[in-house]
Amino acid sequence: LAPSMASSSKEGPARRVAVVGGGVSGLAAAYKLESQGLKVTLFETEGRAGGKIRSATEDGLIWDEGANTMTETEAEVGRLIDDLGLREKQQFPISQNKRYIAKNGQPELIPSNPIALIKSNFLSPQSKFRVILEPFLWRYSGMKNNTSKVSDEFSHESVGGFFERHFGKEVVDYLIDPFVSGTSAGDPDSLSMRHAFPEMWDLENKFGSIIVGAIRSRFSHKSKKGGNEKPLEKKKIQRGSFSFQGGMQTLTDTLCMALGKDNLKLNSKVLSLSFNDVGGSVSNNWLISYAAQGPMRKGSLQDQSYDAVIMTAPLCNVQEMKFLKRRKPFVLDFLPKVTYLPLSLIITSFKKEQIKRPLQGFGVLVPSKEQANGLKTIGTLFSSMMFPDRAPNDQYLYTTFVGGSRNRDLAGASMDELKEIVVSDMRKLLGAEGQPVFLKHVYWSKAFPLYGHDYDLVLKSIEKMEENLPGFFYAGNHRGGLSVGKAIVSGAKVEPWKGVIMKMLGAIIHLFT
Ligand code: FAD
Repeated sequence: LAPSMASSSKEGPARRVAVVGGGVSGLAAAYKLESQGLKVTLFETEGRAGGKIRSATEDGLIWDEGANTMTETEAEVGRLIDDLGLREKQQFPISQNKRYIAKNGQPELIPSNPIALIKSNFLSPQSKFRVILEPFLWRYSGMKNNTSKVSDEFSHESVGGFFERHFGKEVVDYLIDPFVSGTSAGDPDSLSMRHAFPEMWDLENKFGSIIVGAIRSRFSHKSKKGGNEKPLEKKKIQRGSFSFQGGMQTLTDTLCMALGKDNLKLNSKVLSLSFNDVGGSVSNNWLISYAAQGPMRKGSLQDQSYDAVIMTAPLCNVQEMKFLKRRKPFVLDFLPKVTYLPLSLIITSFKKEQIKRPLQGFGVLVPSKEQANGLKTIGTLFSSMMFPDRAPNDQYLYTTFVGGSRNRDLAGASMDELKEIVVSDMRKLLGAEGQPVFLKHVYWSKAFPLYGHDYDLVLKSIEKMEENLPGFFYAGNHRGGLSVGKAIVSGAKVEPWKGVIMKMLGAIIHLFT
């Protein structure tokens, strides 16, 4: 197809950007660029956009098959929700601070703040003493800054190692382990602290003690905010996790609607990307070939040319694509293989009378250690306790996770086996009796990329791609964080024009020096 440059303003033709991948990061990137007046085309392999955000409904039940909730920690997320007019559809879970962790085979309420933790019996007296001592033991250490040797040693530290140094083993086993498996399907030993929790990693660098760092950064954040905002402009934003009426897919569906059908190429799997800068121009340098998916549509098609490409497909998919630079293959052999964690979701509903110990709240997480007490799941969300409109009045809806790095094989087990595991755990934890009245199984073979100890190599390879391919940008959950919020930020913060122009300026300066 001949490039047709649509005119967006008197200043000249609109810039054309191709976004590859229609998950939330690709949609957020496309939405932002389009609202800035750019001409955007989004390519998505599947017949639907949304990626790991997918909601479903059947028999009066509404559930999520990927992300269940998100947070608004990042300002960009709040802006997006406002711009999309989604505030009225935001749904906050009832009693969301009531979260449980299984201990000795039984759910225990997690104390909701550090004072409550110290007052409770959740941790042993020795562990509580270690928590109290942490600010004093680590306050002045500033250890990672002292010598490059120390810094090098700690740069590969695991999440488990980091938290054990600060708070001891019990905190890792009963707070950190269930938290990381519930949010990333990973485990404390395989996850790299620097990559999985960069903010906390920085707190140690700056303050030594994580508790002191957390308190001080919270105060400085508040005072900064207070200084800039006039009281009248302050918005009342509810904190914590949330979803939307109809499930998380309401967000991605709204993004799709805002983008418009014409800009979305569904059933379009990108196969190759070719960069060819003619005469040092910054426009029309990228050609994209894609395969039309689906039974009626076959063959490889070439699309019009683009000025920039924002890639948001998982790296395992990028590795399957062909790249050409000035008609020569640009081989991605420097891109390391990313480890992915598999996960099964089992969605169940029970008649209310079948649940003998129903718990109000968000859900229950199961530490790995509790496998010794016969519990095999990662955790269960109390989906209809959080959002009562997600199940008929006489039922409770639950979403249970199985697999992750602690139980890779179990993630891929048969539905019958998974059902048995889930029903058994629910019997122990909630007093569930009999069989569920509804059951659905969803399997993600690559649910989450593992931010492991060598993740540096992955990030450096992404940078290498961006440096070597002018106008190419990578966003998505393989960089900067796994949550929906972080994926939105990664997509929305790509500023192709800044990048393209800087690269061109660099090249010109290089020519004259
Ligand atoms: P994806 O959603 O993976 O999107 C990438 C898209 O690229 C896909 O649609 C794919 O089809 C497309 N694609 C791939 N190859 C090509 C190609 N060649 N051409 C065109 N398109 C291509 N986060 C939270 O914050 N809260 C949660 O509660 C939560 N729970 C989760 C539960 C599960 C089971 C899973 C799997 C994830 C969960 N997450 C959660 C994480 C969060 O959902 C993801 O990190 C986020 O949605 C990723 O968005 P993305 O756009 O980066 O990637």
